[in-house]
Amino acid sequence: MALEYDIVIVGGGPAGLAAGLYAARARRRTALLEKGVIGGQISLTETIENYPGIESIGGFDLAQAMLRQAESYGLETHYVAATGLEQADGKWVVRTDEEEFVAKAVIITAGADYNRLGVPGEERLTGRGVSYCATCDAAFFKDEEVAVVGGGDAAMDEGLFTSRYASKVYVVHRRDQLRASRILQERAFANPKMHFIWNTVVTEILGEEAVEGARLRNVVTGEESVLPVKAVFIFIGHHPNTDWLRGLVPMDNGGHIVVNEWMETGLPGLFAAGDVRRNAARQVVSSAGDGATAAIAADRYISEHFRE
Ligand code: NAP
Repeated sequence: MALEYDIVIVGGGPAGLAAGLYAARARRRTALLEKGVIGGQISLTETIENYPGIESIGGFDLAQAMLRQAESYGLETHYVAATGLEQADGKWVVRTDEEEFVAKAVIITAGADYNRLGVPGEERLTGRGVSYCATCDAAFFKDEEVAVVGGGDAAMDEGLFTSRYASKVYVVHRRDQLRASRILQERAFANPKMHFIWNTVVTEILGEEAVEGARLRNVVTGEESVLPVKAVFIFIGHHPNTDWLRGLVPMDNGGHIVVNEWMETGLPGLFAAGDVRRNAARQVVSSAGDGATAAIAADRYISEHFRE
């Protein structure tokens, strides 16, 4: 069965929800497809304190508020995973395991997922000391000792940010050399709060209600130890949720969709916004801004290309 819409949005994080609000307010018949939990990565974030105008809100609550607002203007939400996309008769067809969604314009807001360590305790303590975003969570660990995992630019950048609050930042890296750019390495080595634990991996994150420590293993000596920290910030890369679009949409080497400033992919009627796109700032507010831009562009595209 095929369902017909003006605009179909794939992904229910802040970019998709903002796009849904703008598209529905433009009186476009709009469907949003979400494969998991509304909010995407913010649904994992305990408290958000950097969304302008809202001093503090739970990530899940903010996502629900965004959804309610968009649905109040007519956005329809479907809990299905998009599995494919193709062009047909000047429109787009989004495939799912259930029905097909036909749309004049499609906005991809499928987000990105941080790479996980995959160790015991990580999932259970996410939002309770395990974090993938220092900008979001570092302020909760003022004067505490914390760990940062990874040796790339993100680990150094976010580790340096974390050191503004924490009393001590242990950088746990699996090799004896950083991958990060020289400038970030220099800054990190010069920071008296940053301490490096080389050739070491985290094998377990400890704690019941909140993080109490990390179990470590030296990969050279095999020696095990426990690092008593209140937070573990994990920066071991991330991957955009674009595997299902490979070969169809122009992407960079990391799988991020290439768009212009109107979130246009270059394929007529196909837009991408938020963490799936190249050079995203990866913040709730910037993703929401991207989503609004994409919806405005999609509305304009429909007016220009379809008789109404
Ligand atoms: P990245 O460059 O891929 O670095 C990932 C780090 O995590 C590496 O040090 C890697 O170790 C480590 N790692 C990967 N899997 C691991 C595992 N299972 N267990 C333990 N450690 C693991 O990723 P990124 O730092 O997120 O950066 C991604 C891109 O964004 C890069 O192009 C980066 O330059 C850019 N970026 C730039 C800035 C900036 O310029 N300010 C900030 C953030 C990101 P190995 O080194 O041993 O492989």
